[in-house]
Amino acid sequence: MKLGRDNWAADHVSDLATGRFAPSPTGPMHMGHLITALSSYCSVKQKMGKWLIRIDDVDSDRGSTESGNLIIETLRTHGMIPDNEVTYQSIQGAKYRYRIKQLESQTFYCSCPRRETSAHQTYMGKCYQKKGYQAGHSIRLRSHKTIMVSVSSSNTEVEDGITESVDDFILQRKNGDISYHLASAIDDGEQMTEVVRGDDLLTTTGYQILLMKKLGLSIPNYTHIPCLRFKTGEKLSSQNMAPALANDRPAANLRNALWYLGAIPPTNIQSVSGIIKWGIGNLFLSKLPEILVPFQNYDVTDVHPRTQTIKHSV
Ligand SMILES: [Zn+2]
Repeated sequence: MKLGRDNWAADHVSDLATGRFAPSPTGPMHMGHLITALSSYCSVKQKMGKWLIRIDDVDSDRGSTESGNLIIETLRTHGMIPDNEVTYQSIQGAKYRYRIKQLESQTFYCSCPRRETSAHQTYMGKCYQKKGYQAGHSIRLRSHKTIMVSVSSSNTEVEDGITESVDDFILQRKNGDISYHLASAIDDGEQMTEVVRGDDLLTTTGYQILLMKKLGLSIPNYTHIPCLRFKTGEKLSSQNMAPALANDRPAANLRNALWYLGAIPPTNIQSVSGIIKWGIGNLFLSKLPEILVPFQNYDVTDVHPRTQTIKHSV
């Protein structure tokens, strides 16, 4: 298995594009993660770009260092080596707080329950008065029901447009943690030219683009790929016991991931680096199935050893 500087993609890096895989460290990687990571990796490498790993560990109630390390190791084992050092959101609080300061005239302190915007809507008038520091309060962005950029559907880039208004959403939680929306918007806006992620995050994109615009950041191209789901329709996640990827069989895992994405490498390509190189040449985000075949907990490529791109039913 050839990794590191022997890796074909690592020898062809330019500044033309920058993309990333940004997992929350809430458990080991599963097939759904691999599909997203591989899609972003192949897409940015098709543009000879840089591919980065960012650990989205801004939420102190969830995730662990061990999970983060395991995810990085699994990505490396599967031939996806970042072009820069791995970054961690949890140690960049100062940067995020500086950005909140930039938005000061548009923010206020609020003690309404985190997930109950209806509660906040009852007290909006009162909350808006709280401009100075208030202990035990979150910081919300006053949205004025601004436009939200529309996100038409999965597997497409975000298009500009007016769809629905945005609530006064949280930038910093009551316990001091930075919100997912803010941290992602800043990191993606500062560094990325393209963001490839699961369509379960479609609804968050509008919030993040709104923040990028307010902060004067560049908006990356977004592509939302279909999530891998169980037969029940539930998305694979650490919470629902999606099986962890076995690090001792990366080539089989990669072939399976490509199979779900409708791209089947020839059977004579069996090495990790060979499969990755084939993916860069043949996996195109514009040609992904609209819905993925439900997750099967076995080697799908053994059951369906097809040699050409299959058409998934929608
Ligand atoms: Zn409030």
